[in-house]
Amino acid sequence: MLTQAPRGTKDVLPTESYRWQFLEKKMRGAAALAGYREVRTPVFEHTELFARGVGDTTDIVQKEMYTFQDKGNRSITLKPEGTAGAARCFLESNLYADALPCKMYYLSSPIFRYEAPQSGRLREHHQFGMECFGAQDATVDAELILLAFHLLDDLGVKNLSVNINSIGCPECRPKYHAALKDYLVPRLSGLCEDCRNRYERNPLRVLDCKKPNCQALVKDAPSMLDYLCEDCRAHFEQLQDCLQASGIPFRIDSRIVRGLDYYTKTVFELITSTKDGNLTVCGGGRYDHLVSQLGGPDLPAVGFGMGIERVLMLLDGEGIVIPRPDQYEVFVTYMGGCRMDAFRLVQSLRAQGFRADMDHCSRSLKAQFKYANKTGAPFSATIGEEEAQAGTVKIKNMATKAEKTVPQAEAAETLRAMMES
Ligand code: ATP
Ligand code: MG
Repeated sequence: MLTQAPRGTKDVLPTESYRWQFLEKKMRGAAALAGYREVRTPVFEHTELFARGVGDTTDIVQKEMYTFQDKGNRSITLKPEGTAGAARCFLESNLYADALPCKMYYLSSPIFRYEAPQSGRLREHHQFGMECFGAQDATVDAELILLAFHLLDDLGVKNLSVNINSIGCPECRPKYHAALKDYLVPRLSGLCEDCRNRYERNPLRVLDCKKPNCQALVKDAPSMLDYLCEDCRAHFEQLQDCLQASGIPFRIDSRIVRGLDYYTKTVFELITSTKDGNLTVCGGGRYDHLVSQLGGPDLPAVGFGMGIERVLMLLDGEGIVIPRPDQYEVFVTYMGGCRMDAFRLVQSLRAQGFRADMDHCSRSLKAQFKYANKTGAPFSATIGEEEAQAGTVKIKNMATKAEKTVPQAEAAETLRAMMES
C-alpha cells in the first residue's frame, strides 16, 4: 500500500517530465498568441459550485466526484473539470467589469473523476483549458477550435478529426427534447439503465452513451440541427464559415452533445483514431448561461478542455519523439584532493548558465567518468592534481574526445566555444 499510488493516478517521473514541459511551453505559446492569459484556481471548490454549474443530472456530478466533508463540515469537491472554477473566479473577482472579452487558460490543472481506470482514463488527469467570457460571436468558437487543432497538428498528430455540432439554446432545445423523447419511448427497453435515467432527466445525453447497444438504437434519432432557432442557426453557420475560411477539415456530427449541462449552441470534439479505437483529446463548447446560473450577469462564454495525458498518449502512439534535453551540459570530474576546486568550478559554471554537476558520492575518477557518461553529459571538465596546481581544467568533448586545457577562469568561454564548434 505504502509504495503504491492510488488506483487511477500516475506519477510523472523526473526522467519524463520534460515531455510535459515541452507540451506546456507549446500550449502557453499558442494561448499567448491569441491573448489568453493564465488563471490558477484552487484544486478544490465548494461542492455546490459543480452541482449547480456542471449540473446535478450529469455523470460527473452523479457518480464521478471526489467529495468530502472538511473539518469545518463544509462539503468540498476536488475539481472534476476546469470551467466551473474559472467561471467562479471570473465572478468573484468582478472580471466582467473590465473590458470584455476576458480570455484565460489553465495548464496542467489536475482534474479528479472517480471513473473506472483504463487506457486513457485516469482518476487524476490533467487538462489544458481555455475559456473566453463575454463574447457571443462564433468567431471566438472558431478561434478556440483552430487553436486546439493547430496545437495538435503542429505536434505532428495525424488523423485528427474536428467534429462540431450545435445543441441549441433554452429556446429551441425543449422542442427537440420532446421530439427525441418521442423517438426514444418505443426503444426504452433496449437502452441501458443509465440511459433510461437520462431519458427522464436529460434525454440529449442518451445520444452520448458509449454502449454499442444504445448507439445503435439512437442511430436514426432526430437531429438537433433540424430544430435550431434562427439565432442558433445563424451562429452555427457563422462558425462553419470561419472554419471553412481557415481551411481546416471538420465535420458536423449531430451526435455530439457533451457530458456537461452548461453547454449551449456550439459543442465540439477533436478526435483521433488510434489502434485501440477513437480517442477524444479535446472537448469544448459554448456555455452562455453558466455565468448567470452561478449568480452573475447574463454573459456568453465558450471554452475547451484538452487532456494532457491523452495528448502524450497520442504522441507515443504515433511515434512522435519529444526532444529530451541533457540533464547536464558539463560534468566536472576530479581527483580526490581537488574536491574544493571542483566544487568552486561547478558553482562558477552554474552562475554562468551551464547545467553542471560533480560527483557527490566519493567515486574514483574512473567511476566519475562512467557516471558522467550515464547522465549523457556531452562535456567533462577535469581537475587532477596537475590542473589544480596550475589553476587549470581539462575540458573534453565526450563524443569526439577532443580536449583543451585552459585556466579555470576561462572554463565557461572555452566550453561555449567547444559547444559551438
Ligand atoms: P470522455 O468522453 O472521454 O469521457 P469527457 O467528455 O468526459 O471525455 P471532458 O469532460 O470534455 O471529457 O474533458 C476534456 C478532456 O479531458 C477530454 O477530451 C479528455 O482528453 C480528457 N479526459 C477526460 N476524462 C479523462 C480521464 N478520466 N482521464 C484522462 N483524460 C480525461
Ligand atoms: Mg467522461
